[in-house]
Amino acid sequence: MPPLKWRKLFWILIAVWGAINISCAFFNGIVQIIIAVIAMIFLCVIVILGFIFWRCPTCKRFLPRGLFIEYCSYCGEPLDTDDKNTGSQDTKEH
Ligand SMILES: [Zn+2]
Repeated sequence: MPPLKWRKLFWILIAVWGAINISCAFFNGIVQIIIAVIAMIFLCVIVILGFIFWRCPTCKRFLPRGLFIEYCSYCGEPLDTDDKNTGSQDTKEH
């Protein structure tokens, strides 16, 4: 998954996580605890997926925690390489 696609998914997952937390307030007792545990696991999954997908597609290095970066701070390549992959025409014809 390209990091920019992951970033969109990240906001969706954060919204879902927030909804889980809000729904937690409508329950009592054991159900509330279960929902709270689910919310914690959900947050852990988001963090783990972030570690997997929040990487430069070119040099595979872990990106800094900037949610609005468009270019890799290590190699300078754009993170959105999904649309224009292998756009550079090689002169190797053999
Ligand atoms: Zn890079």
